[in-house]
Amino acid sequence: MAERSCLQCGETPASLKLNDIDICGIAGGYEYVELRELWPRHRWADWKDSELAKFGVKPEAYDKYRRASLFDLEYVDCADLITGCIRIVTKADVELFDLKIGTCIGCGNVAPSAEEVPVGA
Ligand SMILES: [Zn+2]
Ligand SMILES: [Zn+2]
Repeated sequence: MAERSCLQCGETPASLKLNDIDICGIAGGYEYVELRELWPRHRWADWKDSELAKFGVKPEAYDKYRRASLFDLEYVDCADLITGCIRIVTKADVELFDLKIGTCIGCGNVAPSAEEVPVGA
């Protein structure tokens, strides 16, 4: 069995030891590296149904995301989300996201009936 990696920082027990890492966190940044996320402990266990539900995952897709990293869970396929596609419906969204009415913010697919979607305020 492959060694389990932490669902938060993506490290394995071996890589943590090798790189002398003693925290669970994600570093990021361009001009200088900073810690973007930090958790009190590593997450080795599979996600529970209740946790996946909080990420908006559909029950039918739970098994698909059981070992998904926290990063992957931010980009769940629209088809696997309870909400499905989240489409641009207001003029404010059009300006904010620079997408057309009816376009999904997640996957970019355009509703076939986009023209019929009423434009809100
Ligand atoms: Zn970790
Ligand atoms: Zn979508």
